[in-house]
Amino acid sequence: MSRESLQARAIAARAQREAAHRRRHARTVARREGVRCSVDGREVVNFCSNDYLGLSQHPQVIAALRDAAGEGAGATASHLVCGHGEQHAALERELADWLQAPRALLFGSGYMANLAVLQALLGDGDLCVQDKLNHASLIDAARLGGCVFKRYPHADAEGAARQLATQAGGAALLSSDGVFSMDGDVAPLGELARVARAQQAALYIDDAHGVGVLGEAGRGSVDHAGLASDAVPLRLVTFGKALGGAGAAVIGDADLIGHLAETARPYIYTTALPPAQVAATREAVRIARTGDGLRERLNANIERLKAGAQARGLALMPSDTPIQPLLVGSDAQALAMAAALEDQGCWVAPIRPPTVPEGSARLRITLSAAHETAQVEGLLDALARARDRVMA
Ligand SMILES: *Cc1c(COP(=O)(O)O)cnc(C)c1O
Repeated sequence: MSRESLQARAIAARAQREAAHRRRHARTVARREGVRCSVDGREVVNFCSNDYLGLSQHPQVIAALRDAAGEGAGATASHLVCGHGEQHAALERELADWLQAPRALLFGSGYMANLAVLQALLGDGDLCVQDKLNHASLIDAARLGGCVFKRYPHADAEGAARQLATQAGGAALLSSDGVFSMDGDVAPLGELARVARAQQAALYIDDAHGVGVLGEAGRGSVDHAGLASDAVPLRLVTFGKALGGAGAAVIGDADLIGHLAETARPYIYTTALPPAQVAATREAVRIARTGDGLRERLNANIERLKAGAQARGLALMPSDTPIQPLLVGSDAQALAMAAALEDQGCWVAPIRPPTVPEGSARLRITLSAAHETAQVEGLLDALARARDRVMA
């Protein structure tokens, strides 16, 4: 017998990643205070978090977490056993009310929620059609789900229609990010809704980066596109981005959500979110709903960054959202740019394949309502210097 060693394989794969500038490691963050923190011992301004409204450290959110912690640290069981408490029930009602949908169902994370939707709703022979740049969790969900999986070119609703038309039988789900997580652009939701209707497919929008940021009262990309919520029978909301916490919910049609609640394995076979975490999210929802002032500050920062980049000849990717990537191209240059920024006290994440397509490594700059004007200006100057140093 000549079985392969898993260790030998892991070591060889690591050497390959090393040679290709594709090693990844977690940075240790300390002394987080607003957008300032210390990373591996150096003081920086953070331009890579998804805390778009600064809610992760909002005093009322933290107070809600503390107050509810008296109920205990954990939910003690899955929802269908005894883990579904008053906090969970209230958050589901409040999300449905805010986002104008019939029903909401909580999940441990957005990743699990996407697995749940595709696994519970689609079976062998059903069709799932997705944007090529959808989040990895949607792609993985389709791969694991046993459905027929087809992808269309980025933001190409006609391409989606063509893929849907390839198969007449069975059910079909058309799924797209609302705001693309590594690009920052918004999906053509009106056109996708028309295509879904014409092709009798259900539309599922992953709005991880839209909720709290876009639309009336922060209702997200679907509202921003002027769509009635019944044009989109299913939406994903995550709590770890603009809401500053952790967890997720799928909201939408009551029959579909009811089906998930009784059959989706990533809902049934996992412990419910800690009640205090849910209480914090309820408070974050209250603040986000009425957070026009925060959104104004965020949008002013976005406009400032875009105008300043243009003035300095820095070609940001086209985006009106807090995700403002700067395309670099090579992995090595993306790493060098990020290091040059960090030397100047600006923390920006370099994003490389396989998270983004080959040859499109980039700096994923993210903005928050909590950034001050001077910090955004400081980033612009640092970007120009890093470019001159690295790209010359
Ligand atoms: C972050 C993200 C997810 C996963 O959400 P988690 O709650 O962090 O697991 C899903 N979809 C998109 C588009 C995301 O950006």
